[in-house]
Amino acid sequence: MVREHTVEAKRFYNSAKWKRVRKNYIESPEIAGLCEHCLKQGLYERGYILDHIIEINIDNINDTNITLNPDNFQFLCLSHHNRKTFSKTDKSSTQEGYGFNFKGEYVPLSEID
Ligand SMILES: [Zn+2]
Repeated sequence: MVREHTVEAKRFYNSAKWKRVRKNYIESPEIAGLCEHCLKQGLYERGYILDHIIEINIDNINDTNITLNPDNFQFLCLSHHNRKTFSKTDKSSTQEGYGFNFKGEYVPLSEID
């Protein structure tokens, strides 16, 4: 089940659609490549990971209202992303300490650069 989801998720994160939507979102004037949570605190920190507010899982991976909807995006620095990942109790989405790098590869967060 987890492996299945990983394959599906990998396919999604490698899709041209996602890459285009992701790029447009990050490069929009409101975000300009900065972490949204830091911005709210008046800090200018480079963002790292485009996060889905409603996490992608096996049930919604094909629902573009979730996966490709900018209303469901937040661009986060690594520290804010980790804070979110480590504080959540539902581990169905991604394994703790793992994430997707910019190439859509599923790797330990420590290897993401
Ligand atoms: Zn931040």
